Amino acid sequence: MTENLFLSPALNAVIESLRMKPRILAFDFDGTLAPIAASPADVTISQKLLHLLEKLVEDKNTVTAIVSGRTLADLERMIGIHSIIYYGNHGMTSSLEGFGASREQLIKWTYEASKIHEKISCLESIYKGCIIENKGPVLSVHYRKVDNASVGELLATVRNTAIEFDVDIQNGKLVTELKPKTNITKGTALSEIAAKKFSEWTKGDPFLFAGDDNTDEDGFRVMKNFGKNSFSFKIGDGETSANYRLFDGEIEKLIEMIV
Ligand SMILES: [Mg+2]
Repeated sequence: MTENLFLSPALNAVIESLRMKPRILAFDFDGTLAPIAASPADVTISQKLLHLLEKLVEDKNTVTAIVSGRTLADLERMIGIHSIIYYGNHGMTSSLEGFGASREQLIKWTYEASKIHEKISCLESIYKGCIIENKGPVLSVHYRKVDNASVGELLATVRNTAIEFDVDIQNGKLVTELKPKTNITKGTALSEIAAKKFSEWTKGDPFLFAGDDNTDEDGFRVMKNFGKNSFSFKIGDGETSANYRLFDGEIEKLIEMIV
């Protein structure tokens, strides 16, 4: 049972730890910093949170990272703060040279994904409301707006396509993704940041990671390797390996308390 941070007797101790520096603060984007919207293009982050992120990056002893399933270009456009470390495609792409997958891998995977995209783009007209997002090495099939009765059939088609093209399926909140077979996850992204010792961060120093979806669980599991001041937060309900749970708006409250 993962308890809500703000109802936990450990609240003050956690806040105190996360105020120490150097520290790494890493966040998922959709459903964590920005509320989920009907379509991924409609998502926006609040001015208040943007302002808090700006304050975090001004501090040279705070390493701030966004680790998301979106593309890097999308993240940079939506957040627009230059000195944040951005990871896109669940850890495959990074704003930092030499992080994430290699350039060769990305070129190969992006080419393969474009072939799959050609094959499945017709699903958008077959299933009304289906949105297929080409994110380079990953394809996202959003079915938030698809009629419930058709979702099963749509997902079966996507699964068969994954088998045909020998790629993996990854499920998120009303989205299923086709992605290359790779060990790269949000967890490997967090490990890369930790290993780099930015701002002289070392194991045992504070490390926060917050996320809301299945792919964030890879991150939550890896967080257990970073010592006694690492804390992971699951936004919302559902089974999780995170240390604590946060509900709507509480991530903002938490950041405000540690900024
Ligand atoms: Mg998310």
